[in-house]
Amino acid sequence: MTLLDLTPRVQADARLDALPIAVVGSGPVGLAAAAHLARRGIPFCVFERADTVAAAVRAWGHTRLFSPWEHLIDDAARALLADTGWQEPPGDVAPTGDALVDEYLTPLAEHPAVAPHIRFGATVAAVSREGMDRTRTAGRGRAPFVLRVTESDGTAVDTLARAVIDASGTWATPAALGSNGLDPIGLDAVAEHVEPALPDVLGRDRARFAGRHTTVVGAGHSAANTLIALATLAQLAPGTRTTWLIRNRAAKRVTTADDDLEGRGALGSRLEQLVAAGRVEVVDSFEIASAAPHNGGVRLSGTRGQTHDSDLVVTSTGFRPDLAMLRELRLDLDDIVEAPRRLAPMIDPNVHSCGTVEPHGYRELSHPEAGFYIVGMKSYGRAPTFLLRTGYEQVRSVVAWLAGDAESAGRIELTLPATGVCDAGGGCC
Ligand SMILES: Cc1cc2nc3c(=O)[nH]c(=O)nc-3n(C[C@H](O)[C@H](O)[C@H](O)COP(=O)(O)OP(=O)(O)OC[C@H]3O[C@@H](n4cnc5c(N)ncnc54)[C@H](O)[C@@H]3O)c2cc1C
Repeated sequence: MTLLDLTPRVQADARLDALPIAVVGSGPVGLAAAAHLARRGIPFCVFERADTVAAAVRAWGHTRLFSPWEHLIDDAARALLADTGWQEPPGDVAPTGDALVDEYLTPLAEHPAVAPHIRFGATVAAVSREGMDRTRTAGRGRAPFVLRVTESDGTAVDTLARAVIDASGTWATPAALGSNGLDPIGLDAVAEHVEPALPDVLGRDRARFAGRHTTVVGAGHSAANTLIALATLAQLAPGTRTTWLIRNRAAKRVTTADDDLEGRGALGSRLEQLVAAGRVEVVDSFEIASAAPHNGGVRLSGTRGQTHDSDLVVTSTGFRPDLAMLRELRLDLDDIVEAPRRLAPMIDPNVHSCGTVEPHGYRELSHPEAGFYIVGMKSYGRAPTFLLRTGYEQVRSVVAWLAGDAESAGRIELTLPATGVCDAGGGCC
């Protein structure tokens, strides 16, 4: 090849290398990515939809995490914060979501190496490559990424990046109430009686639930948190009633005390006690097909002709990743969980009910679209078992890879506590 042939390519690569790395989302994992990028001196920009940091965690901020602080702080973030006189919270205490934001994520976002690089009120509406829709191949790897960013005032701007780390979570895209993954027929007519996951039953939203009959739909830890809060409210506010509606015959995933994470095991045991004491009524084997207004509340109808009435319904059926914004990228996602294909077999809830996952990094998270990574909660797609420690290891490896540090990127540095709920024959733990 002659020098003339090479020149345009060298110029294109130099232009790409001069661009920052874009991080989508300032949740715990997006900020951990920022800390790793800052420590390696790599230019970056974090785009956050909300006006403040970690908006998703703030939304469920009244809820206590089951992990203690020792599992919640990223190593690169800790190293950055150490320079500022930051006081690390006690490792054996599990904070609330609000404390996680106030005592760790806010100081991290305010660190001088991170703060100038966060853009608040900036929603990434779509990601593509400059001049390249999904079908175009020639020169694709050298084309910068384009992020279509919508500002708070509605203005849209296109911003270029050399690589993209999508840490946008799944909080904004909850799963449907219907067991077929669709909204139950008639949902629009009862929308005012249907609440998103994790309402602040004992605080901000207390008046809404006090003295009313609430049905919580779903079998995970979010459902357990809400059910326990409602049972507590029932002791304070007469007339408060709580039903737990699940599609299976039993909710084994949440009701087990055999869990390395004490807080998570305790949640299951507490719920079991409340069910045994009749303070939480259980309706099982109920696959919701439709909903209709009934006596000022909601009537849910099941696929087998059953009906269930209550004043309010809380959707705790889990979350799904927002893939619409990634439509122009070439992704390699698993058909079942919508996680990166190589990661998916380790977390598919059909096989693994546990949170234990094989250590993984940039390799398992890569896509045909070179330079693009989904990390954090969103990397698990529809699987519910994500833990922050996993996300911190993901971004450590991805950032090392983007920095050209193949040795560190390939190193495995993750040990996770087991959930103790491996009930499938898949031998996951
Ligand atoms: C109630 C609850 C308790 C949990 N407890 C634990 C626990 O004890 N231990 C544990 O390890 N894990 C726990 N998790 C799981 C997980 O660690 C959290 O969900 C965590 O918040 C995931 O972090 P993240 O950074 O991946 O995503 P998120 O925290 O969801 O952050 C995503 C960020 O991206 C922003 N964003 C979204 N879309 C866009 C966009 N298009 N453009 C720009 N910004 C965008 C959001 O506003 C948000 O700030 C818990 C989860 C829940 C819901």
